Amino acid sequence: ADKRIKVETTCCYCGTGCGIVAWQDRKGSVAIEGDKDHPVNKGMLCSKGMNLHYTVNDRTDRLLYPQMRYNKNLPLQRVSWDDALDRTAAVFKTFIEKYGPDSVAFYISGQCLTEEYYVVNKLIKGFIGSNNIDTNSRLCMSSAVMGYKMALGEDSVPVCYDDIELADCFFVTGANPAWCHPIIWRRVEAHKAENPHVKIIVVDPRKTDSCSIADLHLQINPGTDVTLNHAIGRVLIENEDIDYQFINDHTEGFENYRSTVFSKTLEEAAQICGIDSRDIILAARYIGAAKGFLSMWTMGLNQSVVGVNKNLSLINLNLITGHIGKAGSGPFSLTGQPNAMGGREVGGLSNLLPAHRNLNDPQHRKYVQEFWGGTVISEKPGLTATEMFEALDKGTLKAIWIMCTNPLVSLPDVRFVEKALKKAKFVVVQEISSKPQTLAYADVILPAAAWLEKEGTMTNSERRISHLTKLIDPPGEAMPDREIICRFAQKMGYPGFDYETDAEVYQEHTKLTAETSIDISGLTYGLIKGLKTVQWPYPKDKMIPDSKRLFTDKQFYTSSKKAIIHSVDDQLTSELPTTDFPLILTTGRTRDQWHTMSKTGKVNKLNQHLPKALVEIHPEDAVALGVEDGNIVSITSRRGNVQMKASLTTAIKSGVVFLPMHWGKLLNSDLNRANNLTNNLLDPLSKEPDFKFCAVNVQKF
Ligand code: SF4
Repeated sequence: ADKRIKVETTCCYCGTGCGIVAWQDRKGSVAIEGDKDHPVNKGMLCSKGMNLHYTVNDRTDRLLYPQMRYNKNLPLQRVSWDDALDRTAAVFKTFIEKYGPDSVAFYISGQCLTEEYYVVNKLIKGFIGSNNIDTNSRLCMSSAVMGYKMALGEDSVPVCYDDIELADCFFVTGANPAWCHPIIWRRVEAHKAENPHVKIIVVDPRKTDSCSIADLHLQINPGTDVTLNHAIGRVLIENEDIDYQFINDHTEGFENYRSTVFSKTLEEAAQICGIDSRDIILAARYIGAAKGFLSMWTMGLNQSVVGVNKNLSLINLNLITGHIGKAGSGPFSLTGQPNAMGGREVGGLSNLLPAHRNLNDPQHRKYVQEFWGGTVISEKPGLTATEMFEALDKGTLKAIWIMCTNPLVSLPDVRFVEKALKKAKFVVVQEISSKPQTLAYADVILPAAAWLEKEGTMTNSERRISHLTKLIDPPGEAMPDREIICRFAQKMGYPGFDYETDAEVYQEHTKLTAETSIDISGLTYGLIKGLKTVQWPYPKDKMIPDSKRLFTDKQFYTSSKKAIIHSVDDQLTSELPTTDFPLILTTGRTRDQWHTMSKTGKVNKLNQHLPKALVEIHPEDAVALGVEDGNIVSITSRRGNVQMKASLTTAIKSGVVFLPMHWGKLLNSDLNRANNLTNNLLDPLSKEPDFKFCAVNVQKF
């Protein structure tokens, strides 16, 4: 008989949420395989998921015990958990007393488990009395959140993965799911292979692997998505390929939208986008003929100074065609991180409250405050990710607690972030690995447990909550993030953090969702552990409606119950190219790396795909620059520079260069770090940075 200990869990990388079976053998080594019974991946795993066990078994980089320095001039030294948390609590109390609750902040991560998010959010909003909690989800999903809220009334993804097999037209825009959401894409590929009439449109300034099965690739100029979406809307209206009944009965704003999209001719729009107008007509024809139309997107739309407008203009295509709330149809934001959605469910952003309640609603604040039994919840939205570092630089923010994220690779204009961290009065870094560069700025380092070393829940891109089971103990004195935060809260003297199990935290969270649109009050911990994976909503004492899809009754979460068709501006407010900085830089992921490589960078097999960062340049631009394939080039923006090998490819649009975002500081050099170049311009509504657009120049080194 197989004596190995076996658990069923969920992949900790992207928001696809694949099921994994993990074993530990008698020698303590962990092995994994895709869970054949899991509804998402049916046994499949992508290269990153398939190699997860290497990151678990290799503990050479793990942080093993708390460390602290008593002042900035002294080295870090090993201390006990009590010493580390007592001093941190004393420092936080001093700042809060002297400068107020907004002098401290938590910067956390879309990789945190829901229960971890819940306790940090409760701690700062409900007890410290500040909304200064934000996550790296601000860098990926906040434009989609705002788009859903404005168009549909709430941050709710209406579709499910099973819609893939029911759709006959896919509009994949600002996304490369073949690399970034591979298992979702395998389903699209299989569906297309079985049904060749299914149309796939890919919109991207790069010809990515996702284009290999596309019927149409719209290689637009960066930042012109709103113009394109409007032009497609215009053609749909002209061809009468819209659903008047749905528009009349279930939406508001169509007449304004019609005037907006007719304000540019098709030729004008095509010229702005840098594509042939016949391709816009073809895209509209594919969409107009579809019985099931899925729009899919990620960072190309979200990470923009006009990210919300891009989202709204895309959702409009689903609304005017009535392709929402029915099988095979709807807008489908592909989540970048494994639990960005779970974090939003517990209100883990600086402008949210738990269960999709609104921070700006006094009734909602009062309800949550009474539920938690803590202090008055501040009505003032907290600092967002990049604003936290601006506040550190200005000196208005004194202390920052960084948990499960690596801002010195992932934030825009990262040299500014270094400068800000240097000025911080007090920095706590809660981490699993000794690699992140933030550790060099830490006054306190708290070692955390990693995947398979703790339990809890996460929610994937299709509203699917999954339970993650513990298989092995954390190394050394490392502790689960939830326990660290609760111990700290108790050191601060706050009641309500004496949970004995993760189940208790989960139950409290689900109770707070009762009677909301994301009601999971019927999904007990026993049930989610037993069922392993369930989509929300899951209300108590009710027959479960079909929770696969939302809005099947065409009742939206707005006050009028109608979806809102927003007429948005198509002006781009990015940093435009000039004579000194004539090229546009766009950044993104590679196939086999995850975020800042602290896990995937440990796996030799994954490093082989692209061992070093390269800059992609179009051959025509290369000729003008006198650059040949393999030359080292220097890329400079107004904020910094990088140096790396050039890779000449026609896959990138002329006038645009592409850099992968994963690489960070290597020994004493940071010359491979894409975010030396990017800027801190934000979408005014979502506060998401403009990672996909800044002006640079390239010179042969
Ligand atoms: Fe993990 Fe995403 Fe790959 Fe699935 S697709 S195995 S969730 S990284």
